[in-house]
Amino acid sequence: MSDEIMPFWTGDYYNEGSGRDGIFDKLKEECGVFGVFGHPEAASISYYGLHALQHRGEESAGLCVANGTEFNYHREMGLVKEVFDRDKLSSLQGDRSIGHVRYSTSGDSRVTNAQPLIFKYRDGDLAVATNGNIVNAPKIRRELEQSGSIFQTTSDTEVIAHLIARSSKDFVEAAKDALHQLVGGFAFLLMTNDKLLVASDPNGLRPISMARLGDAYLFSSETCAFEVVGAEIIRDIRPGELLVLDANGLREDRYAEPQRKALCAMEYIYFARPDSDLNGSNLHSARKRMGQVMAQESFVNADVVTGVPDSSISAAIGYAEQTGIPYELGLIKNKYTGRTFIQPSQELRELGVKMKLSAVRRVVEGKRVVMIDDSIVRGTTSRRIVNLLREAGATEVHVRITSPPFKNPCFYGIDTPDRGELIASSRSIEEIRQEINADSLEFLSADGLIQAVGGDNKDDYKGGMCMACFDNDYPTRTDFNGEEKYGCTS
Ligand code: SF4
Repeated sequence: MSDEIMPFWTGDYYNEGSGRDGIFDKLKEECGVFGVFGHPEAASISYYGLHALQHRGEESAGLCVANGTEFNYHREMGLVKEVFDRDKLSSLQGDRSIGHVRYSTSGDSRVTNAQPLIFKYRDGDLAVATNGNIVNAPKIRRELEQSGSIFQTTSDTEVIAHLIARSSKDFVEAAKDALHQLVGGFAFLLMTNDKLLVASDPNGLRPISMARLGDAYLFSSETCAFEVVGAEIIRDIRPGELLVLDANGLREDRYAEPQRKALCAMEYIYFARPDSDLNGSNLHSARKRMGQVMAQESFVNADVVTGVPDSSISAAIGYAEQTGIPYELGLIKNKYTGRTFIQPSQELRELGVKMKLSAVRRVVEGKRVVMIDDSIVRGTTSRRIVNLLREAGATEVHVRITSPPFKNPCFYGIDTPDRGELIASSRSIEEIRQEINADSLEFLSADGLIQAVGGDNKDDYKGGMCMACFDNDYPTRTDFNGEEKYGCTS
C-alpha cells in the first residue's frame, strides 16, 4: 500500500522509541483487534481496519478469514503493510474474519505467538484474537498442564481455547464458562466456521466497539478503524457482555455481571488515536479538555505553549486556548527515521533523540516555553526533550503533564517497567522536576482528569476509568499465588 494511507498516528516515535532502541521511555500500547461478520470483502476491510490500528502493535499482524467450511489465515512478524500484499489478501476468501496487531514484551516476540491463534478442536476450527492481559492465565495454564494440556504458544490467550475444548457444552456456553474463569482486562474475538463471538471483560478495561457497514457488523479496538472503511459506529461493547453472530444474526448476551466500569485511563490520555471515540467522547476533544483543566490547575506565565508530538498536541492546544498563550509547533517529530540501531553510548543516544524529535529554534529561541506531555515514566524522555528545547534557546521550560504521576505497574496489558523504575513511585514532584531539568513541573490531578473525560455522572466511579497506575486501586484481583503478571502477553 502507498504511504498516503499510512495513518499519521502510526508510532515510529512512540513504539520504536519506547523500548527497542532505549531512546524514549514511553509506555507501550497493547494490541488491537478487528472483526468482520457478513461482508464478502472481509479480508480487504480488515486490512484497512488493522492499518488504522497499527499504532497499537507493530511487532506482528495476522488475519483469519472463514468462508463457512474452512479457515484461511496469514500471520507474520512486521507491520500490516509488510505482512499483507495483494496476493495474500486475495487468498483470504470469506465473509467473516478476525484480525490482530500485536505488541509483546521482549522474549514473547515470535511468530507462533502472533494472532489470531488458530486451533482445531472436536467441533471444528477455532480462531482467537484478544487485546489485553489475563491476570490469572499462569495459574489456569499450570492447572491445565497438570491435567494433560499441551500448549502451543507462550501466549496467555491460549488458555481460553483449552478451556473451551475441555467443555462438553455447545460452543457458546463453553465460551461463556471459559470467559467467566478469566480475571483481567481483555477484549476477545472468537471465531468458528459458523459463529463470531465478541466479549469484553467485566470491568470493560480494554476498549472494543461495534459498527455497521451495510448489512455487515464490524468490531474494533478503536473507532478510528470504522471511519477508514466508512462504517457507522453503533456502540461500545459493555462490560461482561458477549455478542454472538451467526446465521440468525446478532444476539446480545452476557457471560458475567458487569463490575464497576474501569476503562483504561491511559487510552484517554495517550494510547488511542485522537480521531477515535471512547465512551462516546472524541479523544482529541477529551485531550483538549485535559489541557484546559491543566491550565486552570497550574497556570504559568510563558511566551509559547508546545506539545510533545503526537499525543500531546491536542492537550497543548487546550492549554493555549485556556491561557491565551500562543500555541506553537516547538517540537517536530520526524516520521521517517525508521528503526535505528543506537550504540549504548550517551552521545549517540542523544543523537538518536535528535533524529526522531527536533526543537524548532525559531519558535523557542529566547522564549519561555510551556511543554505539554501526557506522562512521565522513567523521566529520561522528559529530560531529553527539555534539554532539546534549552539547546534550541528556550529561556525557561515549564513542563505540564496531562495525567497524575504514574506510580504503579499495569496488570491489564500495558507494558510498564517495574515499580522501582517508575520515577514517580519514589520521588517527589520537586525531585522529578530537578531530574528532568525543568523550571517548573505540574501534573493534572485525578479529579481534573475525570472532569476532562466527561465523568460528570456522580454514579460513574472515577469517570468510569481504571486509574490504578496512578492510585494503586486495581479494579480486579491481581494476586494469584504470587503469579501476578503484567505487560501485554496476549
Ligand atoms: S493500570 Fe493504568 S495503564 Fe493499566 S489499565 Fe489501569 S489505567 Fe490503564
